Amino acid sequence: MKIIAVKLLVAINLAALPSSCQNSKALNQINTVQGPINFSELGMSLTHEHIMSNYGKEINETPSYDSIQLFNQVIPYLKNLRSLGVNSIFDCTTEYFGRRVDLLKMISDATDIQIITNTGFYGAADDRYIPEYAYGASAKAISEIWIDEFENGIKGTDIKPGFIKLAFDDGRPPSDIDKKLLEAGILTHLSTGLTIAVHTGKNMEALELQMQLLRDNAIHPSAWIWTHANKVEDDIVLLDLAAKGSWISLDGVNESNINEYIRRIKLFKQKNLLHKILLSHDGNGFPSGGPIRNFEAIFESLVPEMLTNGFTQDDIYQVLVRNPKEAFQIRIRKTDDQDKMQVSIPKVLAEDENK
Ligand SMILES: [Zn+2]
Repeated sequence: MKIIAVKLLVAINLAALPSSCQNSKALNQINTVQGPINFSELGMSLTHEHIMSNYGKEINETPSYDSIQLFNQVIPYLKNLRSLGVNSIFDCTTEYFGRRVDLLKMISDATDIQIITNTGFYGAADDRYIPEYAYGASAKAISEIWIDEFENGIKGTDIKPGFIKLAFDDGRPPSDIDKKLLEAGILTHLSTGLTIAVHTGKNMEALELQMQLLRDNAIHPSAWIWTHANKVEDDIVLLDLAAKGSWISLDGVNESNINEYIRRIKLFKQKNLLHKILLSHDGNGFPSGGPIRNFEAIFESLVPEMLTNGFTQDDIYQVLVRNPKEAFQIRIRKTDDQDKMQVSIPKVLAEDENK
C-alpha cells in the first residue's frame, strides 16, 4: 500500500518538473557512469549510498569483486528501488575502498538507475584508504589526478565523476594528510566546479578547518556538503550552516529512526531551510561481499510518514528532486561576501566533542 502511494507521488511530481532554472554560469549537465545527462533528468535522487564497497578490506584488495555475486545481489535490489521511483544514486565509494566504474556502468545498464560516481580519497577509517603516494605529493599534484578524472575520464574509461568525495576521521583533530586532501579538493573545485561532499559527522575541528579553508579561498558554502550531519545532536549548528548556504546531508535514514528524521525535517521546514537538506541512507548493496545494508526506508517509511505529518508532496519533491539537482550543480562557487562565511559553533557542542 505504501509503495503504491510513493509511486503515485513520483508520477505526479516528475510531471511537475520545472522546465528551466539553470544558473547561466553552471554546466547544464552532470556526468553519470553512462555519460552526461541534463540536471533536469536527475529526478528522484539518493545522494549518499554505496552500490558496493570493500570497506574493511586491505587497500590492495579493495578493487576486487566477485562480479557474479555482486550482480546477483545488487541488480534485483536496484530494480526494486527503480520501481519505488528512484531515478539516480550518487555513489560515495571512493577510489581505494572499492570504486569500480566499469562495474557501476554494468549495474546502471541493467537497472535503469542513473549512477553518479565521485573523485577524491577517503581520509577516515584511520587513513587506511589513502594511497601511499599521497603523503609525498603536494595538494596540487593530488588535485591534478582528480581534475584529470573529470576532464579525461576514470582509469582509461570515458566515465567521469559528478562530485568530489572526502572524509575526516571521527573524534580526532584533522591530521596533515587530512588537510592536504581537503586543499586538493578545494583546488579541484576551483578548477572543475564539482561540489565537495565531506564525511564530517560531528567532528567540529574538521568542520572548523573546512570552513576556514573555504573562507580563505572565497568559496561559497553551497559548494560544500556536510556529509553525515545527522550524527550531530545539536540542531543549531546545522541550521546555522544551512542558513549560510551549506548542504546538510541527513544520510542515515533507516526503519528505526523515522520519527527522529520527521522531527528534524519539520524543524528545517519551520526555519524555511527545507531547501538545504539532502536525504539518504548511507546504504550499501554489497558491503565487502556481505548482506545488503538497506536503502529503501525513505520510500517505504519516511515519505509516507511525512505525508501523514503535514508535509506536502511539494516538500518531498523539494528534498528528493530539487535539492540534489541544486546541490550538485557544476559551478565554481566563489563568494565575495566574507560575512556569509563566518561560522559560529555553539561552545557546548565544541566542548562535547573534546570528551
Ligand atoms: Zn557512506
